[in-house]
Amino acid sequence: MIGQNLPAGVREIDAAGLVVAPGFIDLHAHGQSIPADRMQAFDGVTTALELELGALPVGAWYEEQSKSGRILNYGTAAAWMFARKAVMIGLELDGKSTPMELMGAGVDDMRWSSDTAADEQVDQIVALVREGLDQGAIGIGIPNGYAPGGGVKEMTAICELAAQYGTPTFTHIPYASNIDPMSSIESYVRLIGLAGATCAHMHICHLNSTSLQEVEHAADLIRKAQEQGLPITTEAYPYGTGSTVISASFFMDPDFPERTGTDYRSIQVVSTGKRFDSREELAAARAKDPKALILWHFLDTEQNPRDRELLDISVMYPGGAIASDAVPWSNPDGSIYAGDEWPLGSDKTSHPRSSGTYTRFLREWVRERNAVPLMEAIAKCSLIPAQIMEGCAPQFRRKGRLQEGCDADIVVFDLEAVSDRASFEQMYLPAEGMVHVLVNGRSVISNGQLDTSVAPGRPIMREER
Ligand SMILES: [Zn+2]
Repeated sequence: MIGQNLPAGVREIDAAGLVVAPGFIDLHAHGQSIPADRMQAFDGVTTALELELGALPVGAWYEEQSKSGRILNYGTAAAWMFARKAVMIGLELDGKSTPMELMGAGVDDMRWSSDTAADEQVDQIVALVREGLDQGAIGIGIPNGYAPGGGVKEMTAICELAAQYGTPTFTHIPYASNIDPMSSIESYVRLIGLAGATCAHMHICHLNSTSLQEVEHAADLIRKAQEQGLPITTEAYPYGTGSTVISASFFMDPDFPERTGTDYRSIQVVSTGKRFDSREELAAARAKDPKALILWHFLDTEQNPRDRELLDISVMYPGGAIASDAVPWSNPDGSIYAGDEWPLGSDKTSHPRSSGTYTRFLREWVRERNAVPLMEAIAKCSLIPAQIMEGCAPQFRRKGRLQEGCDADIVVFDLEAVSDRASFEQMYLPAEGMVHVLVNGRSVISNGQLDTSVAPGRPIMREER
């Protein structure tokens, strides 16, 4: 708790010369585990939310997290896509599978991804999502890009539900393409239309990755929609490389190279580093292990100045949040690492954004390039995400701020030293420069050292308004 006239603290921290800021709130964290929490704590995160995918059933998810001893605060959206899999191919939602497992399920029968739902199926999908909201989900995850068969009528019904519950939706837009039809721009225009037509708060996930070469155009459209008062928000992560499962349908589009401006060499298996030479090779790997995690180098930020500029437009979008899209930690065989060894072994892989998103942003955009003022940068990592969430979960009014009565989720960092260390070759290296990280007043990192014995993370759930 933050305030005056509080009883004496158990310990005092000397923060002279350091930046003291609200802990970072990550709207897009798929890791949701002890190792993921620890790596994110070194990146300054104190609240890690699974909002783009979400979970179903939601009650079982929260119960599972509370048993696991989470280090960071946690929360989930209700998963539209899992409801769709349940209704369209009979996927069982027994509460035993993690969101990442459900994400990889159902690759033998892709009707859940490709097909339009009949009206009565839409009703069933909406009913399952509603159950998730009733069980406390903070928002609705709409990874439409993985199930582009979910059409405008279905999305309208889901967004009407969101508006009725006063809860945001988190969209991975249906199409990632520089060219029509089914372009990224078509997706954004459709999303803006949904905000206007249903009054639902539409949050756009990873503006950097799904806009491809159209980032500037997309940002311009979003700004104009916001200027008209439409409830639209967005986020980005500071990398030109994404990560997902190999089974993602957009890679199998026969026109993938032409539509995305990248080739099959841009797709790389996380656990082996292997890149592909052809669609056939990719299809064979996909058939063998559909759950395999891959990297997709969609912007060439090292070599191409225009790509660099596009990443800047998304990361520096005024009022936009920084969100990591952190993915789970994997074993060398590609299975998800579920243990809690610390430090994390050098054979574990993920994506550098799972351990370095916020420190990379502070190092490069704030310290090295002076491209974003420090106060604005901190707002993009804490206050702005809190404001995006506080309509549906009033708990967020006590987060993202250092004010009297607010939660003591606090980071103390050295702006001169803060840095991501994870690279695509060494993803397992935790970030540096976070001197102290407190979650709900408990010290998780102290003098740069992780305390492996504490688990102060608390659930964040939807509240009736
Ligand atoms: Zn996504």
